[in-house]
Amino acid sequence: MAETGEGGMHPVEGIRGTRAIFVHPDNIRQVRQRLDARVAVIARPDDFMAHTDPVQLIIETEAGVHLRCYLAAHGGQEFLLIYGRVDRRRRTTEGLNYTITQRVVDFLGVEVLIGTFIVGSVQPNAVAGEVVVPTDLVGLGPHHQSIAVDGPWGFRTVDMYWPFCDSVKNILLAARYGSPVAAPAKCVYGTFHGWPRIETAAELDLYTRQGLDVVGQTLDPEATLAKESGVHYGALAVPVDDEAIREQLMVGAKAAQAEVNDLVARGRARMFDVFLQALPALSKLPDSQRCDCPAQAERRRARSEHMYYRPRHLCVDW
Ligand SMILES: [Zn+2]
Repeated sequence: MAETGEGGMHPVEGIRGTRAIFVHPDNIRQVRQRLDARVAVIARPDDFMAHTDPVQLIIETEAGVHLRCYLAAHGGQEFLLIYGRVDRRRRTTEGLNYTITQRVVDFLGVEVLIGTFIVGSVQPNAVAGEVVVPTDLVGLGPHHQSIAVDGPWGFRTVDMYWPFCDSVKNILLAARYGSPVAAPAKCVYGTFHGWPRIETAAELDLYTRQGLDVVGQTLDPEATLAKESGVHYGALAVPVDDEAIREQLMVGAKAAQAEVNDLVARGRARMFDVFLQALPALSKLPDSQRCDCPAQAERRRARSEHMYYRPRHLCVDW
């Protein structure tokens, strides 16, 4: 990519001929004109990146510099690839900076965001390694990151009654199962905010009876921030344990731990394959009017007496 002059993008020659684009408030207009990435995915597809050599985007946001963004392409369609949620400092998920990632999505004008998740399974009939599409979520514990409290409009409670964009969810279900009709009736993701330990047997039994299907620590904050921003959001997940694997782990079987590690790598690849399959339909999504995701952001900014925890049709001053 050639330098475009003052105010334009400034590609930087990096190792082995790779380049980076510096994105700053002063050149964001040119960057948005140049990029054709309406879709973003948060994933760690190492093989895909090794083979396609995506261009790094170094992005100055109000919340800091984001260094894990790439401009990638598949089948002629560009998309933003955000390499996971963890920077160089390992920490519990409660300490992850979800806000900076959402700032990047908003800054670049991305309209569709897909989160991919390595999770634990709960139900006795779960099969480790099989990609699932969460259809709902349960937040268990506090979540303190929000963009709905620092604007000039006062505090606004985002409506999470439907946490996922219905159009995105159906596209992901079709990509995973052939058609939404062929998919399981539900997949509920229980989110433990920064609770980094394995469940007790009693907890697993409780969660099963409560109707959870998979458990993890990261979906709720990401989905909530996306909803606050009016982005069409959907998720893919892959459990890396099941009842049989847990039994082997409990007796210290080294092969079981190796299998879990292998499932993590294969799970990431499988989720990314589903994403790539869904990409053409996701790229056309902004033309669809079947959801009210953008209206959620307008609702957050609207002056109103309501807290907006209720469905739209019950808001009397909408
Ligand atoms: Zn939507």
